[in-house]
Amino acid sequence: LTVTDESEALRVQDIEGFPTSPGMVFGALTEAHSSWVPKGPWRGAIVWGLPLPDDVVDELTTGPTPRYARAYEEWNYRLDVLACEAEGRLAAMGIQARAIAASRVVDEKRQRGEASHRHLAASLGMGWIGRHGLLVTLKWGPALRLVTVLVDRPIAPSPKLSFVGCGACWECVDACPVGALDPPISPETLTRCSKLLEKYRRNPDIGHLICGVCLKACRDAIRNQQNDDSGNL
Ligand code: SF4
Ligand code: SF4
Repeated sequence: LTVTDESEALRVQDIEGFPTSPGMVFGALTEAHSSWVPKGPWRGAIVWGLPLPDDVVDELTTGPTPRYARAYEEWNYRLDVLACEAEGRLAAMGIQARAIAASRVVDEKRQRGEASHRHLAASLGMGWIGRHGLLVTLKWGPALRLVTVLVDRPIAPSPKLSFVGCGACWECVDACPVGALDPPISPETLTRCSKLLEKYRRNPDIGHLICGVCLKACRDAIRNQQNDDSGNL
């Protein structure tokens, strides 16, 4: 398949052998996405999600574990390989594409990457942004890693999740050991989280700005909700 007409929306699902993952969304970018992507000719985005292993997430009751840290590294690596493969396939079709690494900080002060995978994934229909600030999906909660490829033309959209949202749930807020998600959220409350993450990064068995407690609490809340038809999230 070769796409030469730039006005044509790319149909990702028609590209033979294109990399896929259990969670995957794609679609056109609009002005509303501009703060989540780097400057450039980008008019479409593809986001892949790779769920973390259940038994690793089960460990995250009080903080990150070495197994979680290793899974975090491996999942990021697998996603980066997948995105590079997609970038190469698109380039071979004459489409300019740019893989955005799963976890590479380019703005150290604000701890930001080149693009916001979670905001792109939410706006393209994979889920919503939860009270903890992570992407929440109906299938895995926030327990997945994400990667993005940007392309220089619009993409025909994948199906969107009907918006669900956090509703009456506050499980992640209650689970946070330092009250970082307690309302009203302020720079001071968020600093409690960043200080704890920095402590974990200095731990040689962890080595990353990760915690996982609110991630596990949310995954469990989503699961419990799905086993319980009686209420709303
Ligand atoms: S735990 Fe509940 S409140 Fe927190 S992000 Fe998940 S669904 Fe939303
Ligand atoms: S990552 Fe940890 S410290 Fe930060 S908000 Fe979640 S539970 Fe709290």
